[in-house]
Amino acid sequence: MISDIAIIGSGVAGVSAAQSLRTEGYDGRLFLIGEEPGLPYDRTALSKAVLGGDLTNSPLLFPADWYDELQIDLVLGKTVRKLDVSSRAVLLDSAASLTVDRVLLATGAAACVPRISGVDLPGVATLRTADDTYWLRQSWRPGQRLIVVGGGLIGCEVATTARNLGLEVTILEVSGELLQRVLGRRIGGWCRARLEELGIAIQLNTGAAEFIGTDRLTAVTGTDGRHFVADNAIVCIGAQPNTAIAEQAGLACSRGIVVDDSGGTAAEGIFSAGDAAAWPLRVGGRRSLETYINSQKEASAVAAAMLGRAVPAPQLPLSWTEIAGHYIQMIGDIEGCGEFVMRGDPDVGPALLFRLTDGRVTAAVSIDAPRDFAMATRLVEKSAAVRPEVLGDSSIELRELFRAARAKTTVT
Ligand SMILES: Cc1cc2nc3c(=O)[nH]c(=O)nc-3n(C[C@H](O)[C@H](O)[C@H](O)COP(=O)(O)OP(=O)(O)OC[C@H]3O[C@@H](n4cnc5c(N)ncnc54)[C@H](O)[C@@H]3O)c2cc1C
Repeated sequence: MISDIAIIGSGVAGVSAAQSLRTEGYDGRLFLIGEEPGLPYDRTALSKAVLGGDLTNSPLLFPADWYDELQIDLVLGKTVRKLDVSSRAVLLDSAASLTVDRVLLATGAAACVPRISGVDLPGVATLRTADDTYWLRQSWRPGQRLIVVGGGLIGCEVATTARNLGLEVTILEVSGELLQRVLGRRIGGWCRARLEELGIAIQLNTGAAEFIGTDRLTAVTGTDGRHFVADNAIVCIGAQPNTAIAEQAGLACSRGIVVDDSGGTAAEGIFSAGDAAAWPLRVGGRRSLETYINSQKEASAVAAAMLGRAVPAPQLPLSWTEIAGHYIQMIGDIEGCGEFVMRGDPDVGPALLFRLTDGRVTAAVSIDAPRDFAMATRLVEKSAAVRPEVLGDSSIELRELFRAARAKTTVT
């Protein structure tokens, strides 16, 4: 009989797991332990509406009374220092310890920091928490020169917001295109053009080699030796799963805590979900997906598994972003080999890019087309076989293609 569960980490994975445990009928004690002091919040708004000032505070995942209603014991502002996997004892920094039947490691990830000279100078920042955002909002002023190191999702979101706040923004991206890993080269190039239209300077094939300044940042040296004068820099070069407790407990970690497709580690009763977990993928392999929706999906799978009702849930990456005023959604890995089909024209209006592998839809990216993206998601989830010329024909509803694929008929 399970009567005590501890969830370590109060981000969306931890909170969603707590919610699912209650929905699944678990009525024992439930501890949600988080090192951030405030109520759990939605991190995705930080680089967008919160940094931009449209929202004063980061939106809460749930109001305070929700935790009371679900009888969740919130232990906030406390860091878990150690986990003993054999006794399932969780040691807090206050020296208090809890011994429980199940443990969920939902410790998330931390912003990667490059080991280069000057990275500790005032004016050089990363963005992961609400406090980081509030600090940036206070320090940035219109007209200041900002270097964004890294042209991935968060880098491009921050660049958009900073530019809208009136800063002079330059993105340094070490590869040959922005956003390549998540949105692929085609959409990455399209986003680059939109960011340039906003007045953002983009330097491809250029990383940061050194941050320069005495008391504070004054410039960034690029990997190609160029000198970029700067008042501020923000490093957005990815996130590193928080695996310290798991590693110290002897759990296997490989760019995330290694779990099976229900979130179980090799140690009985110890689970992981969200950005901390290297979760099995539907296409094979495993990795931390670092998305909000995948964190939620993993959390509900792990809650069932903690109660002995494991339902395998290998993941397909599923996410969204807001860049240069465009709402972009993606499912699957758009970059890779296969055939690519554009439906619509993003220069004119809403559009979707599909990737077909062996005639089956394996990934999609939507630009300002949320309604069609919902149906595209179903096509990808089903690996539907669709002919490229039909998929690219906007006069044929995607719903029709989905129905045909389900019935294994052909749309002509
Ligand atoms: C600026 C920003 C914008 C983003 N935008 C998007 C977006 O548009 N779309 C999208 O899909 N995803 C986005 N993401 C990613 C998304 O927010 C994450 O995938 C999601 O928050 C992961 O949730 P999590 O609960 O696994 O981890 P986190 O949200 O990182 O939460 C983990 C929590 O655990 C705590 N913790 C860690 N170690 C300990 C310990 N030892 N003891 C106690 N507590 C501990 C941490 O302090 C943290 O509060 C964004 C992320 C950032 C940073």
